[in-house]
Amino acid sequence: MKDYSDHIGIIGGGIAGLTLGCALLKEGIPATIFEKMPEDTSHGAAISLSPNALRLLDRLGIYYDLRNQSFIHSAALIQGTQKQICEFQTPEVLTTRRQTLMSLLYSKYINLGGEVHHDHALENFDAVKCEATFTSQNKYIFKHLAACDGIRSLIRDTFFALNQSPKYSGYSAWRGIGKSDVQRIHFALGPGSHIVSYPVNKKGDVSFVAVKKEDFQFKESWREEGSVKDLLDDFSIYDSKIFPALEDSMPLYKWGIYIRPPLKSMIAKNITLLGDAAHPMVPFLGQGACMAIEDTYSFAMACKAKIANLRDAQEAYDFVRNKRTKKIQRLSMMQGKIYHLKNPLLVSARNTVMKYTNIPGNDLKKIHEYDAHYEMQI
Ligand SMILES: Cc1cc2nc3c(=O)[nH]c(=O)nc-3n(C[C@H](O)[C@H](O)[C@H](O)COP(=O)(O)OP(=O)(O)OC[C@H]3O[C@@H](n4cnc5c(N)ncnc54)[C@H](O)[C@@H]3O)c2cc1C
Repeated sequence: MKDYSDHIGIIGGGIAGLTLGCALLKEGIPATIFEKMPEDTSHGAAISLSPNALRLLDRLGIYYDLRNQSFIHSAALIQGTQKQICEFQTPEVLTTRRQTLMSLLYSKYINLGGEVHHDHALENFDAVKCEATFTSQNKYIFKHLAACDGIRSLIRDTFFALNQSPKYSGYSAWRGIGKSDVQRIHFALGPGSHIVSYPVNKKGDVSFVAVKKEDFQFKESWREEGSVKDLLDDFSIYDSKIFPALEDSMPLYKWGIYIRPPLKSMIAKNITLLGDAAHPMVPFLGQGACMAIEDTYSFAMACKAKIANLRDAQEAYDFVRNKRTKKIQRLSMMQGKIYHLKNPLLVSARNTVMKYTNIPGNDLKKIHEYDAHYEMQI
């Protein structure tokens, strides 16, 4: 069996795992990814990426290809259930299909000499020997373990938060992609719900996510299909033109949004948590994947600076990333409350602030200006 004892073993080949693989290999640090899913797994849905993530993807050399296959925005429009509230300027935001981002990260990682071991679900990790056992019964010894295994992280459950499972956030979401001539990011806000839509390319494919506050706990799965009728019933207070063209045959998915409380620390022993494994958040600021990209880039920089002592690298990473991600987790939750206000007086006050001040744009600007490259200068 191949010797990986000088490698950082990355568990999970999602956005965090692949970005980490690229960032480490680019710095000449050996790393290998172990992913539980088979090679041909598709990654549906869409994603928006803000400048805090885009400038890191640029340093990793995938930004220009991504930009060519995506849609770039500099403004967003906010409306109520029927009428426009305001339009505001944003720093460059890119919207794309998730599959586009994943494919570019994957190709970059492979071109840098990376390997992905698919069908490898981590089953057990011995932190003393730094030995990982997979469902295939293959065992590997690593120099360090980077857990990028998402919200249901086995590593988090075993070493960071015993007896604590993901909790339903109180929000459920629908998503789909259809044809429309919409050319910008569009938010529609109603009492207890909101809808976000945006083009994902220049070919008229528009993605939407429609979120509703509801007590009933939906499954976390992204693959639970729903019908056009149920979607329109759930969002009947909105003008149905908000959605791209909906056809009965198109796949629509409905699922529950789950969260976990912040951790005291994202490091333990020879293990570092990154992305959703460390800090899953509600998606109302579009920052979950951006935080995963910031985390992984920061950790790679810390490893480069402190390669002789990865404990120091872990501490530098934890010091910078814990503060930032806790703040974004909290702000994301607050954004949901602002979007879903029900009291007419508060709704009117919110709409006035949105219409007559650039507060929404300025708040986002502060999040988007962050540059992990400079924050991690050590
Ligand atoms: C509706 C919605 C919309 C969103 N929109 C945005 C957005 O616009 N912008 C944004 O920045 N973020 C957005 N997010 C958040 C973003 O999708 C996540 O934060 C991001 O995908 C997390 O990436 P990750 O790699 O950490 O985790 P994941 O994507 O969950 O990847 C984890 C990987 O680990 C693998 N894995 C799990 N367990 C094991 C194991 N035991 N062994 C081996 N492999 C394992 C999984 O198969 C998976 O490939 C959104 C989220 C939702 C729900």
